[in-house]
Amino acid sequence: MRAVVVGGGIGGLASAVALTRNGWQVEVLERARAFGEVGAGLAVLPNALRALDALGLGEAIRERASSEMPAGIRAVSGRWLSRADHGELRRRYGQWAMVHRADLLEILRAAVPADALRPGVEVREVRRDGTVLHSGGTSTGDLVVGADGIRSVTRRSVWGEEPAPRYAGYSTWRAIAANVPVRESVETWGRGERFGYSPLPDGRTYFYAVVNAPEGDEGGADELRRRFAHWHDPIPALVNAVAGTALLRHDIYELPNLGSYVAGKVALVGDAAHAMTPNLGQGACQALEDAVVLAAADGLAEYDRLRRPRTQMVVRRSRRLGVIAHWTAPALVGARNTVMRMLPRSGFSRSMAPLLDWAP
Ligand SMILES: Cc1cc2nc3c(=O)[nH]c(=O)nc-3n(C[C@H](O)[C@H](O)[C@H](O)COP(=O)(O)OP(=O)(O)OC[C@H]3O[C@@H](n4cnc5c(N)ncnc54)[C@H](O)[C@@H]3O)c2cc1C
Repeated sequence: MRAVVVGGGIGGLASAVALTRNGWQVEVLERARAFGEVGAGLAVLPNALRALDALGLGEAIRERASSEMPAGIRAVSGRWLSRADHGELRRRYGQWAMVHRADLLEILRAAVPADALRPGVEVREVRRDGTVLHSGGTSTGDLVVGADGIRSVTRRSVWGEEPAPRYAGYSTWRAIAANVPVRESVETWGRGERFGYSPLPDGRTYFYAVVNAPEGDEGGADELRRRFAHWHDPIPALVNAVAGTALLRHDIYELPNLGSYVAGKVALVGDAAHAMTPNLGQGACQALEDAVVLAAADGLAEYDRLRRPRTQMVVRRSRRLGVIAHWTAPALVGARNTVMRMLPRSGFSRSMAPLLDWAP
């Protein structure tokens, strides 16, 4: 059986690994000239580590990840609003990992047979009968996996002109700092602004900022420093470390729900199926789950039945969290912070169950 995978990001490469291990002959079409990306950090939560274990890649990830660090949410002053009880989280859900995105992609890529990878091939059209038209000619498969991200050509050609991705109202910066080591994974909530940082295994620090902003705003390092240089330590040092580093800036979008992730011989995975806001750190995690389930499912209808309700639940929860995290009215923000300080630690752990207790 032949599968054509459109897109060689996390969802596409993971699908290629999973399908290969289930006996499929796979071809991965990726428009970039090389597989991999500059990227930044990525949280691989316990549900996704279980998916990677199912692919036989969990250990390789753990070796290149940092984990077991204290985690939680702070106020701009540095005061804790919510602290994760990581012993309890570990007992309930297992380990989670912070990795460099490029490391995850490299581990996935190395697990796909080299002759299956076709970089520099841009897909132009996908048909329900399994035909894929691209810059290198035509490919056909018994299965086509649309893993081509939020502006998916697969989704557009098979599902028609869906409403465009919806701007969430906030935009992010991401970077990796070399000389500002941290020991905890923290997100700090202000008014319409958030800042997060986490240790990477090699002593570097992944950090990101999320701000309410008009779509297309292009502010760079100066804007980042203006907004965050007075927040609690180590945030000033992190925003001052961006000179000379790659600073990524992306507006955040999500896709409207689809009524099905499958049509004819075509299935969507990852952002092409359910691009979500990054507030729960679950976009790539869900793509990894998709890949494992797709390869094991008894037909595409079963894949859709198993994946659509779950991923659309995560999209909803992530959107809701973003609304609360980006409140700007002082009274609302004050009330939010008070409630967060009062909630028991065990409540946080329990509330994560629908996301983290997934198993293949
Ligand atoms: C700021 C931010 C932070 C995030 N943090 C996290 C996190 O901590 N944890 C987490 O789990 N998720 C996180 N995510 C979400 C995560 O990045 C995405 O969900 C994930 O990368 C989706 O993977 P994908 O393979 O589905 O799509 P993509 O990564 O978009 O990959 C699509 C691939 O398809 C290729 N492609 C596109 N069109 C074509 C075409 N026509 N022909 C051939 N190739 C094509 C592209 O070049 C690309 O390589 C975050 C997202 C953002 C924006």
